[in-house]
Amino acid sequence: MKFQTRALHIGQEPDPATRATVIPIHPTSTFTLEAPGVTKGYHYSRIGNPTRAALEEVLASLQGGAAALSFASGTAAMWAVVALLKPGEHVVASLDLYGGTHQLLTKVGAHHGITTAIVDMRDPSRLEAALTPATRLVWVETPGNPMLTILDIAALAGVIGRRSPKPYLCVDNTFATPYFQDPLALGADFAVHSTTKYIGGHSDVVGGAVVVKAKDAAYDALKFHQSAVGAVPSPFDCWLQVRGLKTLAVRMREHERNAGAVASFLAGHPAVSWVSYPGLTSHPQHDLAKRQMTGFGGMVTCDLKGGEKAAMSLVTRTRIFGCATSLGGVESLIAYVPVMTHFHMAEEERARQGITPGTVRLSVGIEDEDDLIADLEQALKS
Ligand SMILES: *Cc1c(COP(=O)(O)O)cnc(C)c1O
Repeated sequence: MKFQTRALHIGQEPDPATRATVIPIHPTSTFTLEAPGVTKGYHYSRIGNPTRAALEEVLASLQGGAAALSFASGTAAMWAVVALLKPGEHVVASLDLYGGTHQLLTKVGAHHGITTAIVDMRDPSRLEAALTPATRLVWVETPGNPMLTILDIAALAGVIGRRSPKPYLCVDNTFATPYFQDPLALGADFAVHSTTKYIGGHSDVVGGAVVVKAKDAAYDALKFHQSAVGAVPSPFDCWLQVRGLKTLAVRMREHERNAGAVASFLAGHPAVSWVSYPGLTSHPQHDLAKRQMTGFGGMVTCDLKGGEKAAMSLVTRTRIFGCATSLGGVESLIAYVPVMTHFHMAEEERARQGITPGTVRLSVGIEDEDDLIADLEQALKS
């Protein structure tokens, strides 16, 4: 079955008890056993719940993995992967990185004796140079947040594949979504998602997932972590994510169409100094994006010539674009990057990533394209 058919049918057979067409929400903490050890597959909801199982099944299918594990947030999912490492082991992470990932690695990871090198991986030889005998994990975000840098997953997997023992390659696929990018086919071991974003798709749920390429020892460790550490999503949150996945493909096509129009509009506006959108031919890795992804996504980042003052003015004057952190919902959002999404990084770390005092990030929603552009036009004018 193709993507859109799987999104509606995998893990979503009519409920055997009632023939309900839509999967039930099972808000139960425990399951009554016929006798100790005799179960129908479930005995306690931290360890397993049927609504979560449905979500994990459809997510694994859509992301082309052997299995998926759902977590209470994207951050909890990321920590499950980082926690595969032991004290003294080493991570190499890409430079254009979600602020929370930077914080998780350099603060929480460091607290547990895990060291991290942040490396600009646009040139894969820089990854090669950063690998040490202690490197166990290579963390790649593409498109990156907030600069929308594209990294060549297959080339990076090639570099890692020459090492023994081979470090894990984990790709944060939140921006691209399973619909536009298949990191596991390109050589990654894990694809992680903040399902809070496009997968939930309606800004009404916080969640995360790890999708694994193989059901190997690392999967067993991740699955053990999921129940032993216990950052699991509620059955209702799982149900919302299953519902979100049903329309992911339809929404992503609309997000992409509107984002392309917004990017072109901004690129032609005199108040804007640069626009980063992988779909623009001016994007430095446009050809790579075209090769690696089946669509360019819904995120657009730009810089205003007027710096902080102009950026603050823009994000407070839009009427349709809501001034908010987060992304990937049906409604358009706009964020002032230095203060709202990457505030916990030092100024020089932001500068190294390419973030300027005028950097604004837009999550382009599925409203009418003309209304979105008119909104930006009036806000930029003032
Ligand atoms: C939001 C986000 C995360 C963190 O996910 P939460 O659900 O907020 O914990 C990780 N990576 C990327 C790219 C994100 O946008």
